[in-house]
Amino acid sequence: MAGGMPKIVAKNPIVEMDGDEMTRVIWGLVKSLLIEAFVDIKLEYYDLGLPERDRTDDAVTTAAAHAIQRAGVGVKCATITANDDRVAEYHLKKAWPSPNGTIRAILDGTVFRKPIVVKNVPPMIRSWVKPIVIGRHAYGDMYKSAEMRIRQPGRAEIVFTPADGSEPQKILIHEFAQSGIVRGVHNLDASIRSFARASIAYALSEKVDMWFSGKDTIAKIYHGAFREIFRQETEARKADFEKAGITYTYLLIDDAVARCVRSSGGFLWACMNYDGDVMSDMIASGFGSLGLMTSVLVSPEGKFEYEAAHGTVTKHYRQHQRGESTSTNSTATIFAWSGALAKRGELDGTPELTRFARLLERCVIDTIESGIVTKDLAGIADPRPAGHVTTRGFIEAIAETLQSRIESGAVAR
Ligand code: NAP
Ligand code: MG
Repeated sequence: MAGGMPKIVAKNPIVEMDGDEMTRVIWGLVKSLLIEAFVDIKLEYYDLGLPERDRTDDAVTTAAAHAIQRAGVGVKCATITANDDRVAEYHLKKAWPSPNGTIRAILDGTVFRKPIVVKNVPPMIRSWVKPIVIGRHAYGDMYKSAEMRIRQPGRAEIVFTPADGSEPQKILIHEFAQSGIVRGVHNLDASIRSFARASIAYALSEKVDMWFSGKDTIAKIYHGAFREIFRQETEARKADFEKAGITYTYLLIDDAVARCVRSSGGFLWACMNYDGDVMSDMIASGFGSLGLMTSVLVSPEGKFEYEAAHGTVTKHYRQHQRGESTSTNSTATIFAWSGALAKRGELDGTPELTRFARLLERCVIDTIESGIVTKDLAGIADPRPAGHVTTRGFIEAIAETLQSRIESGAVAR
């Protein structure tokens, strides 16, 4: 590091997962200019870029997930989810599954999305001054359902046939007198419990109040089971909630929506699968930009994997490939790194590493608020900046600020 300042030393490793396209370009810049220049940390490197996933028959993705289980903390670059077009483009053996899906399944984790709040990118809702985090259950309900078109009069029933050969359970859905539609959905106690535990782990880790919402006044058994499992799990961690100074509240989904809009933010909203799908897009656009949305996967045992919520920004990568200048926002990628470093510091009892991570975040926010922004923010920032900087220019501006603040002792304090 310039000026001969000693680097901040991390005790334990972080699992680093490289990715694809424009975010892979950003990854290299962030790693060398903002992380390795200042921090001495062992990075367990896994290349989840599509060529390497193809070469290893996707074994590299599974290995990375197991490494996160061991190390406790990972940071991941955005990756291409292969489809037919990508199979042709990269001459793949097959359309490998989404790495995020594979890792989520191995860690049994829940994804939490959190916006980065900057003063000059005002949210659409004026009262939102603190981030609103959405936790989305990622199993079952509408996404694993069986549906049927009913074309004539008849009875639709739910039948459960016990594996032990005992008497089937039967319940009438509807006696159809005319054509219509029917759908069967399910969930699993174990999955709901993991979701509740991951939500609790996140709320305690971030020290934010936790909401869970459903419609148990109508779906008394289905949503009632979610509500009851969340009650049991939060009850079991009551002492930890008190110690962290946070609360748990169950709300009817419509009440939660109304309260969310009127709130000043600063809470975790744990959502059922469909609600989370809908609400995370509402919150993301309400806060302004995809480049400002971070994402963390939390396992019920408290293992953390940080990443940006956006994809590999293919359109910008095509410009980069043509040798044109780009202006891609690296904020969410930098926050993925800072989130992982802060967590590493917290788990290892090395507060100077956590302070470095928070300082890095401060430098990013101050850079944006000083009017140095990438193209995506140039159009929506208020006051309107004079222009925009390049992908590299933005990261270099942050590195300069970081360097000068470290030299004046910001991490030591
Ligand atoms: P995307 O990469 O999120 O980009 C969609 C558009 O959003 C971009 O074209 C750009 O708009 C804007 N954008 C997103 N991130 C930005 C940033 N950091 N800075 C500035 N603008 C940003 O989504 P996609 O194009 O649909 O997907 C591309 C690839 O990413 C796909 O192969 C998909 O499988 C993958 N993907 C991966 C993940 C993940 O790994 N977590 C998540 C989603 C998608 P403009 O073009 O208007 O500037
Ligand atoms: Mg959606």
